[in-house]
Amino acid sequence: MVGLEISKKSDSDSIKNNRLSDAVINLDQGDPTAFQEYWMKMKDRCTVVIPGWDMMSYFSNTTDVCWFLEPELAKAIKALHGAIGNAATEERYIVVGTGSSQLCQAALFALSSLSEVKPVSIVAATPYYSTYVEEASYLQSKLYKWEGDARTFDKNGPYIEMMTSPNNPDGTIREPVVNRSGKVIHDFAYYWPHYTPITRRQDHDLMLFTFSKITGHAGSRIGWALVKDIEVAKRMVQYLTINSIGVSKESQTRATTILNEITKICRNKSESFFEYGFEKMKSRWERLREVVDSGDTFTLPNYPQAFCNFFGKSISNSPAFAWLGCKEERDLGSLLKENKVLTRGGDRCGCDKKYVRVSMLSRDDDFDIFLHRLATIKDLKCIKP
Ligand code: PMP
Repeated sequence: MVGLEISKKSDSDSIKNNRLSDAVINLDQGDPTAFQEYWMKMKDRCTVVIPGWDMMSYFSNTTDVCWFLEPELAKAIKALHGAIGNAATEERYIVVGTGSSQLCQAALFALSSLSEVKPVSIVAATPYYSTYVEEASYLQSKLYKWEGDARTFDKNGPYIEMMTSPNNPDGTIREPVVNRSGKVIHDFAYYWPHYTPITRRQDHDLMLFTFSKITGHAGSRIGWALVKDIEVAKRMVQYLTINSIGVSKESQTRATTILNEITKICRNKSESFFEYGFEKMKSRWERLREVVDSGDTFTLPNYPQAFCNFFGKSISNSPAFAWLGCKEERDLGSLLKENKVLTRGGDRCGCDKKYVRVSMLSRDDDFDIFLHRLATIKDLKCIKP
């Protein structure tokens, strides 16, 4: 029995007090360590043992378009999407990647190399996931070019829109905004019931998912793409072959075990990872809103309730990031940094510096310290520089 109660903290009071006064809290990256407590309670239920002679080959299934995809992982992915009801897996190719970061780059390569006109414009509506900018610009490719905000994009020619829903960084539910005849990469990293109501079964040409943000196992570096067009899937596999000759079998095996377990118990109220994750995220958001609402310094987006087909009730979003704003015109990232809280500045997401992206997936202690410091700044009424 896993249970949903909050575990005792391991830090002693003195260490904690020290941390309260001194430690720099890094909420810039979305390192999903918040769920570790759940996995500790699972004890050996998801332990994986791999003998020294096993998994030595590069290959998994040479008859599959994605020849390095372990067949058991493919089954586990389909079973999980079937149980949650968040995405269609029929008549699609599964392409596994070293995180969905690698798959995003594979998708940019595949779609743009298949385009007659190059470079293909890459856009995303602001505020966008800042890593898209790096992924689209880093190699200075002749295949594609980062063109910024999708809402103001007015160039002719082929384009790829990165569409994230719920969105990183602001948690909003999104649809593509350019709506011409371009391609869309649907990034559904956070379309899981602990973050957002599951309102429909997504059914698009190219959808990305990541193990990192479902269960918190970012270190395994497993992501997958559900791809309709075989030519796109083949090109993505070509990219992954050149880039890393496939994806770690050990990681795929661990992901398979964990995904199968969360699927098996997803309807068991006291054990379900999604019930646990939902309560955890909801409680963090309630606590954050309490601090923000008790002053007149900060802003947070409000999210409408919607009926979640998985939970069978109306719920609100509890995004993995808080899009925190400052009511006054000032650089909120610098203000928080002075108070030893690192966040991602809104300017990196194509927006104003009066906003920051704050990870809601840190360990409990760091989250507590963050709230404590935010309450202190709020009391100072956001002193002018
Ligand atoms: N897409 C989005 C929207 C994300 O937030 C992240 C992780 N921050 C990723 C993709 C990449 O995840 P990973 O490479 O760990 O699978």
